[in-house]
Amino acid sequence: MSPELERVIALQKLVSAAHDAERRLAEEPEREKALDGRLDAAGQLVATAKARLAENQSARRAVEKELAVHQGRLSKFREQAMAVKTNQEYHAVQKEIGFAQGEVKTLEDQILERMVEADELTALVKHTESELASEQKAIDADRRAMATELAGLKAALERIATERAEVVRALNPQTLAVFEFVSRRRNGIGVAEARDGICTVCHVRLRPQVFNTIRRNDQIIQCDSCQRILYFKPTAAPASADSVPQSAP
Ligand SMILES: [Zn+2]
Repeated sequence: MSPELERVIALQKLVSAAHDAERRLAEEPEREKALDGRLDAAGQLVATAKARLAENQSARRAVEKELAVHQGRLSKFREQAMAVKTNQEYHAVQKEIGFAQGEVKTLEDQILERMVEADELTALVKHTESELASEQKAIDADRRAMATELAGLKAALERIATERAEVVRALNPQTLAVFEFVSRRRNGIGVAEARDGICTVCHVRLRPQVFNTIRRNDQIIQCDSCQRILYFKPTAAPASADSVPQSAP
């Protein structure tokens, strides 16, 4: 392959790698927001559980106050029962005692229910708190991983910029002009592989003599349709991960 073609392929790889790194860097605020969202959601579950427990406790205090009133009435009626003079009075006070006892029983049952509920809610608060703690831990780990990744991306961008400057310096200015002109108009992809007689990016069939010339890899030839600089991969090996991207529109 001609060194000039090798250089322009190398330049395309660097441009694409820089583009990928920049896109990943640009996602940082969204990723931060997603992590904040996860933490907020876990915190919200704790707050909800605590609010339900507080509500349970205040409801229980209200029932206890009401119970005290009915217990007061019950002892008052019991004192009255000691002092009744007539049968009629006795029956009347017994009726009040029965009624007050019913009320006391109902309220005591309600308090018991609230206590059972309070146990469940206390367990729920503990559970959501431990979930929050492990979520916090996982998020901290994600943030650290993200910081490492971002530092790596920034370092990669610096390295790419240096390598790119070297390649650009070595490149024929005319080839560079063609590459820049095309890649500006073609979504950052100025170089394409020609395979089986077609341009693998725009999928247009090349004239047979053009394809034959491309197969020699000894000059800069542009696709008639998309104007990308074409090259040929002599080995039929499957495209490796570090090959020039072929899928961009
Ligand atoms: Zn093309």
